[in-house]
Amino acid sequence: MQDYDIVIGLEVHSELKTNSKVFCSCANSFGGEPNTHCCPVCVGLPGALPILNKKAVELVIKAGLTMDCEINDLAVFERKNYFYPDLAKAYQISQLVRPICIGGHIDLKDKKVRLNRIHLEEDAGKLVHSTAAIGTLIDYNRGGVPLMELVTEPDISSADEAVEFLTKLRQKLIYAGVAECKMEQGGMRCDVNVSVKKKGSSEFGQRTEMKNLNSFKSVHRAIEYEAKRQIEVLENGGQIVQETRKWDDNHGKSVTMRKKETSSDYRYFPDPDMLAVEIPREDVERIRSTLPLMPDQLKAKFMGEYGLSEYESDILTKDKVLSDYFLETLKHFDNPKEVTNWILTEILNRVKDEESFDIKITPCDLGKLLSLVAEKKVTRTNAKEMLTRIWENGEKITALEKEYGGNVDGDALKALVERIVSSNPKAVEDYRTSDTPEKVFRWFTGQVMKETRGKANAAKAEEFIRELLK
Ligand code: ADP
Ligand code: MG
Ligand code: ZN
Repeated sequence: MQDYDIVIGLEVHSELKTNSKVFCSCANSFGGEPNTHCCPVCVGLPGALPILNKKAVELVIKAGLTMDCEINDLAVFERKNYFYPDLAKAYQISQLVRPICIGGHIDLKDKKVRLNRIHLEEDAGKLVHSTAAIGTLIDYNRGGVPLMELVTEPDISSADEAVEFLTKLRQKLIYAGVAECKMEQGGMRCDVNVSVKKKGSSEFGQRTEMKNLNSFKSVHRAIEYEAKRQIEVLENGGQIVQETRKWDDNHGKSVTMRKKETSSDYRYFPDPDMLAVEIPREDVERIRSTLPLMPDQLKAKFMGEYGLSEYESDILTKDKVLSDYFLETLKHFDNPKEVTNWILTEILNRVKDEESFDIKITPCDLGKLLSLVAEKKVTRTNAKEMLTRIWENGEKITALEKEYGGNVDGDALKALVERIVSSNPKAVEDYRTSDTPEKVFRWFTGQVMKETRGKANAAKAEEFIRELLK
């Protein structure tokens, strides 16, 4: 394996976050009873005419702007002809010659991956292979869902880099509000092109393509498997044939599916039903002005403005849900370091599923909780217990504050402190003679908290203790 370079190019399909489909007004929503979000256009009845969804075009432009693509001033739609029952009109409306975006790049840790293009097309329906005798069923709900297809140059050289690329791409699309990229729903799917060549050789080897991988893990496994397979073929004197292979995730291997089609097999031609789309520069600039901060920019802000470490900033910008949550909590409790500590430990430890980040305390309540700790109205330990009860039972923070809050206060607290101090003369002596009196002091506050099970007004307790130890 060490004698070979691996060359990888990706084609990534992402379903765009629009309300309606790309060429008709049917709902763009996942699932639903089969064939209920359909009309003559998106099931592909003869003669039905497509109307372009402007939002879909804008989202592709937006995606392109986050990756420094050039936005074409004229975009054209072509018919890509092929018959498959999930695309009943026997062609897909797609783009070949003048896609919406050209060029661009995504920067990984150690390299720049150049993009070839991003174009807009329609998704196909879904074949449901029934195990019962009825055979294969078709659900057209997904037909006509807007898809952006991004094609990279063959700049990726390992399975790890491919996953790093996809992770960055997914992050960008989610942050920009372009796509939700729900992998388990097929919202982001990837075709992987792999070839190998002798180390250092400038000539590319023959590639194979594996289609429709829908998890980063299978992309990783598929690349490793395929590169190894190709090297073995070459080492045994064989040749790689250009073909489409099917990745079988259950068995961890790929098998030949069909000889690779080339673009001439699809007989692309401009779709006479579609007008060319002019994209005025003002529109591009308007769209640019709506772009939120991207993960890398947010990361820089977190480190620069809030003084967080790179490690902390990386975690907080891993997912938009998390960075939004962080920023929102800051509005209620303006201490970035403390909020970060709580999110990285208490919040993330309680999150079960990192795909959906279901955080069961509102930013407002977390802010309140941290204020209570800061004002010493509740102890840290009690605050964690309160958090658990809010998280697990949805209890109200105001009620919990009464229960846990510093309700041992005033004269009662004073009497308690006096009793503790007078019954521990040895500790009092230590405090006065020790090099580290603060340690002894903390021991006293600890005693007060222990006796009140954390419910003493901590600020007051400290004041009383200092007074008596003077
Ligand atoms: P097609 O539709 O035939 O797959 P595209 O041009 O849309 O063609 O996509 C080709 C993909 O294959 C691109 O991502 C490109 O970077 C990649 N690619 C091209 N040549 C090679 C190669 N020799 N090895 C690996 N990937 C390649
Ligand atoms: Mg391809
Ligand atoms: Zn429709």
